Amino acid sequence: MTDENRPLSSITIALVAHDNMKDDLLEWAMFNREFLANFRLIATGTTGRLLREQLNLQVERLQSGPLGGDQQLGAMLSEGVIDFLVFFWDPLSAQPHDSDVKALLRLAVVWNIPVACNRATADFMFSSPLVVSGYKRRLPDYQAYHNRPIEMEIDL
Ligand code: PGA
Repeated sequence: MTDENRPLSSITIALVAHDNMKDDLLEWAMFNREFLANFRLIATGTTGRLLREQLNLQVERLQSGPLGGDQQLGAMLSEGVIDFLVFFWDPLSAQPHDSDVKALLRLAVVWNIPVACNRATADFMFSSPLVVSGYKRRLPDYQAYHNRPIEMEIDL
């Protein structure tokens, strides 16, 4: 996905944190603020607002997660717009938009996108030299899936 000449500012990191995890994400982002400022940042509504207000980072904001933001990100993943997903989801609280959360995580796997769901993983992910060295993410080939035979029982 990335190539050697690709500027960091075109590499897109999506950021999402559930309410109980927002402190964690903000703290992590604060620690990595200078690094993150090199990239294109996109976040769900409230996460994005906090990153802007507290850290003065340039962040494009989508709808709030439970109001459709997770689904917007899912669509962007399948369009190839997102290179990394940092998604601090809350493992101890039920979410009204649980199906959207699951869908977002599922699409990240479908499209072979690196995902960090906690600080340790985010630390490992962004300390990898591959982030800035032009790593080419392997794009899964779903041609066979698109062309799969569908048995129809009706005559058209
Ligand atoms: P929020 O959404 O950033 O608007 O709070 C996060 C989420 O998906 O719950």
